[in-house]
Amino acid sequence: MDLAKRVKTLTPSSTLAITAKAKELKNQGHDVIGLGAGEPDFNTPEYIIKAAESAMKNGFTKYTPSGGILDLREAIVSKFKQDNELEYSTDQIIVTTGAKHALYTLFQVILNEDDEVIVPAPYWVSYPEQIKLAGGKPIVVESDEKNNFKLTPEQLESAITSKTKAFIINSPSNPTGMMYDEEELKKLGEICLEHNILIVSDEIYEKLIYTSDNHVSIAALSDQLKQQTVIVNGVSKSHAMTGWRIGYAAGPKEIIKAMTNLASHSTSNPTSIAQYAALAAYNTKEDPNEEMRSTFSNRLELLLELLNDIPGISCIRPKGAFYLFPNVIDAVKSNGFESADEWVTALLEEEKVALVPGSGFGAPNNVRLSYATSIDLLEEAAKRIKRFVLNHQ
Ligand code: PLP
Repeated sequence: MDLAKRVKTLTPSSTLAITAKAKELKNQGHDVIGLGAGEPDFNTPEYIIKAAESAMKNGFTKYTPSGGILDLREAIVSKFKQDNELEYSTDQIIVTTGAKHALYTLFQVILNEDDEVIVPAPYWVSYPEQIKLAGGKPIVVESDEKNNFKLTPEQLESAITSKTKAFIINSPSNPTGMMYDEEELKKLGEICLEHNILIVSDEIYEKLIYTSDNHVSIAALSDQLKQQTVIVNGVSKSHAMTGWRIGYAAGPKEIIKAMTNLASHSTSNPTSIAQYAALAAYNTKEDPNEEMRSTFSNRLELLLELLNDIPGISCIRPKGAFYLFPNVIDAVKSNGFESADEWVTALLEEEKVALVPGSGFGAPNNVRLSYATSIDLLEEAAKRIKRFVLNHQ
């Protein structure tokens, strides 16, 4: 079978590849520590599960409007008002099958053949692939680790061409955990306004921040910026609901309408029960993030210290999400490996610790470790990584 050109160039997700290899070793009976996970190791809060049960019992098991049930879109409107000081109407919101599908649908409706999207590296693995699937061209711009992996206005400006259609901001970032502050966002936003570039703001880690920094949405900085931005968010990370697949996008009406039309021919609607679960997540006064935040924050401190104690590894302090993204290139070289990819493979084979190589995020000198796992396992993993590095000196 001759497959379509568009899928032939797809690169499989590097996160999933390492997870598969780790699973294979585990099945063979090895004691593998997997630090590849992109999801909180918490269960969905009980009140959300109960809401899903009631939804099923009450017959909410049928098709819903393609853009999501009105109650949920209203709850999302309130969330934006309360958390981000942003005023949207319900026809500016689409509920999607996870934030991933919001991004996928968005690129499908805004990109024509060869339109360019500026993607700062390190980036989340799916951005370039989704852009290519929509016929667009990801223009990857490497940010400097010395600038905390943040794109400067000069870098953004110099990547713009007559074909630039959109620019992606992901703050807090997967994989670096870095955040843009208001001043930085303002400057980047001004450039986008000047060149009429749509801003895609992926705010999925908004609730997982471990410093006193406030999450700022670029759309909230001015009316013009709001009109020029599509925000993508969801409950996967904030409410430990990765498997429920509920995300959403907020933005200009014509974009949301086009996305909703496309959804009507692709997913029909996000799962009805999961929408009621997400509605409960937003309609409660409980803060499900408090426990997660303090647990993640403790783990971050511990792992950061342990990693920075390993020769040839240096890690800057992230502000949010649940990943560390250390630079390991000195360890890779002194251990006699050609690349961090090879180093990660050998580490998994010898010490049974699974990390994700940074190459899949556009940062080949780094690796990603998720601290969505217990303190004991993190300590043991750091011990094994250190032993590996010292054994190969
Ligand atoms: N955006 C970023 C930066 C992510 O890390 C993820 C998930 O890993 C997503 C979007 C997708 O989230 P969802 O599970 O809601 O599709």
